[in-house]
Amino acid sequence: MESIAENRRERTLEATRPERRGVSARTVIEEAKAMVSTVDLADRLCGPGRLRRVGDKWVACCPLPDHEDRSPSFTVYPDTDSWFCFACLVGGDVIELARHAWGYEKAEAAMAAGDLLQEFGHDIPPRPPAWFRKQERQRHTRDAIEQTKKNSDRRRLFELLVLPHINTIEDEERRNRELDRAWDDFQRLTP
Ligand SMILES: [Zn+2]
Repeated sequence: MESIAENRRERTLEATRPERRGVSARTVIEEAKAMVSTVDLADRLCGPGRLRRVGDKWVACCPLPDHEDRSPSFTVYPDTDSWFCFACLVGGDVIELARHAWGYEKAEAAMAAGDLLQEFGHDIPPRPPAWFRKQERQRHTRDAIEQTKKNSDRRRLFELLVLPHINTIEDEERRNRELDRAWDDFQRLTP
């Protein structure tokens, strides 16, 4: 345990050295990786005294929420500042650990990094204007995907529920007219 504490002290010193502060255009992910080590986060997630030193690694029962680990499958490698769970078969850097532990999607790594900085009492670097522009673009894409899925569901529902009824109309012209109307109504009624 002592060496985790030492490790942490060392990095706290590093963080308060003036030349390290406010340096940068570092992204929130880079900042979080620089400020919080994998073993620190693992220690926080596993709970005090749960990480055990085995050779040059630390092991514990896996702290990830979906894994009820009875034998210690979770390993942290200080040398490479990384981790791996041999039961979940996932691993990576400190950001990946935060992401898995706190339930963020791959695309939300920056949010996991932000939480990580906050959790350890560090400032979150201000986001460059490009970041906001990108968020906006991604929001549009997400909305478009959602809308496409919705439209597809709606068409399937229409085919299933309404189309068989319309197909009973024998006259082709009437059938097509009714089809247009019904589709309009259906879209209005299923937002
Ligand atoms: Zn696991």
